[in-house]
Amino acid sequence: MSSKAIAVWADVCSHLKTRINADVYARWIDIIEAVDIEEDTLVLGVSNDFYQLWLEQNYLSYIRDACRIVAGREMQIRFTVKAPKAARSEPRPESPKSAAKNENGAPHRARGQSGQKKIESTLDSRYVFESFVIGPSNRFAHASSMAVAQAPGRAYNPLFIYGGAGLGKTHLVQAIGHYALTQSPLNVCYLSCESLMNDYVDSLQKQSLIQFRKKYRSTDFLLIDDVHFLSNKGALQEEFFHTFNDLHLSRKQMVMTSDRPPNEISGLAERLVSRFEWGQVTYILPPDYETRLAILKSKQKAMNISLPQDVLELLATSIKSNIRSLEGALTRVTGYAAHMHAPLTLDLVESLLRDLLDKNVQPHMTVEGIQRSVAAFFDVRMADMTSKCRTQNVALPRQVAMYMCRTMTSSSLPEIGAAFGKTHATVLYSFRSVHDRIGRDSQFKQMIARIEKKIESAK
Ligand code: ADP
Ligand code: MG
Repeated sequence: MSSKAIAVWADVCSHLKTRINADVYARWIDIIEAVDIEEDTLVLGVSNDFYQLWLEQNYLSYIRDACRIVAGREMQIRFTVKAPKAARSEPRPESPKSAAKNENGAPHRARGQSGQKKIESTLDSRYVFESFVIGPSNRFAHASSMAVAQAPGRAYNPLFIYGGAGLGKTHLVQAIGHYALTQSPLNVCYLSCESLMNDYVDSLQKQSLIQFRKKYRSTDFLLIDDVHFLSNKGALQEEFFHTFNDLHLSRKQMVMTSDRPPNEISGLAERLVSRFEWGQVTYILPPDYETRLAILKSKQKAMNISLPQDVLELLATSIKSNIRSLEGALTRVTGYAAHMHAPLTLDLVESLLRDLLDKNVQPHMTVEGIQRSVAAFFDVRMADMTSKCRTQNVALPRQVAMYMCRTMTSSSLPEIGAAFGKTHATVLYSFRSVHDRIGRDSQFKQMIARIEKKIESAK
C-alpha cells in the first residue's frame, strides 16, 4: 500500500462525503482501500468483484471527478479485488443439482432447520384476494395468481406478472402470499428485489453469503416484487439465477412482478429472461371505467365512508392510468370533507384534485387522431379502421391502431372497441398480438416506434 495513494484517497473521500449521501457513502465508498498510484492511475482495492462491478457501473464518474479536483489533474481509476481469505474460501454459487443438498447431503430447505435464519415476510394485511377488484384489465393476472396460490409449484412456475406503476402488482403478489399461508404452514417469503439486493450486499459485507443462499433456497414460496430492479446488476443476477434453478428443480413456487415483460428488461441476462418465461407471463393493463368505479366503491367501503355517486364518477372519469392515484384522490376528498364539514360539490372536488387530474389526462391524444395517423402511415383509408374487412393489409393497421390507442390514450377497452366497431375482447386480443410481436420482431418494433413518432407529431 503506498502512502501517497492513501493520502490522495483520504482527500478524495473528504470530497466525496460532501457529494454523496451518507448511506451510500458508508455502503459503497467507505469499503474502498487505496492501494497504489501508478503514474496517472489510482489503484483502489475492494473485497470482491461484485463491489468492483457495482462501483464501476455506478460511482466511477463521481470518484474520477473528485480525484480531478483533489489532484488538480485527470486521473484514471482502476479497481482491484483484494478478497479477505474467508471470503475467497466461499464456494461460487453451486450448480442447480448440487445446490439441492447442503453440506451434510441433506436437502437444506427442510423447515425449522437449526441455525437457519427465519425469513421475515412483510405482507400488508390489506393486500388480499378479497379486496382485489377483478375487471377485464386484470382478469388474466388474477386468475393466474389464484392458480399458483391454490396449487403452488404445480400450476405455473414461475408466474411473472408485469404492468405499469400503481396497477396492482404488489397487491396481487401479496395476495398470493396471504392465501398460501392460510392453506398450509409454508415458508413464504415476500420481498422487493431492492430488499433482496440489500440483503445480498449485507451478506457480502458480513461474509455470510452461504447463509444468504440457504435462506432463500429454503423457501417454499418465493415472491419477488419489481424484478426489473435486476437490470444491469450482474452479480445479483448470477446469485438469483442459482436460487431460481434450485427452487425450480425442487418445485417450489416463484412469483415475480416487473414493470415490463422479461424480454424488455434491459441488461437482464438471456438465461434469466428465458427462465422468467418458463411458466406463465401475465400482465395487468390500466383499468377501464367500470373497474375504476368498482375499485373506488370497494375502497370507500373498506374506509367506511360514503361519497356521492357523482363524485365517485368524476374521480373514475378523470384518473385513468394509476389506481394508486385513484386511491390518493379518494383519501384526499374524504379528508377534506371530514375536516371542513363542507358538502362535496363537483367544482370543489375538481379544484381539490387539479394536480392529480392534470397529470392523468392527455387531452390532445384522441382515438380518432391515432386512427388517422396509423391509416396514413399504412396508406389505407380511414374507413378501413372501422370496417369488417379481415384481409391482412387492413387487419394489421387496425390492430396496430388499437394497440396505439391502448398505450397512448387512457381510453378504456370498451371505449376503444366502440371507436373501431369492435368488442373490448378484440381490442385486448389486438393489443396482445402486437405487443408479443414487438417482443420478438425487432423490425416490427422499429416500425411501431416510427408510427408513435408520427402520431406524436400529428397531435
Ligand atoms: P403496483 O405494485 O403495480 O405499483 P400496487 O399493487 O401497489 O401497484 O397497487 C396500488 C394501489 O392500488 C394499492 O393500494 C392497491 O390496493 C390498489 N389496487 C390496485 N389494483 C387493485 C384492484 N384490482 N382492486 C383493488 N385495489 C387495487
Ligand atoms: Mg409494486
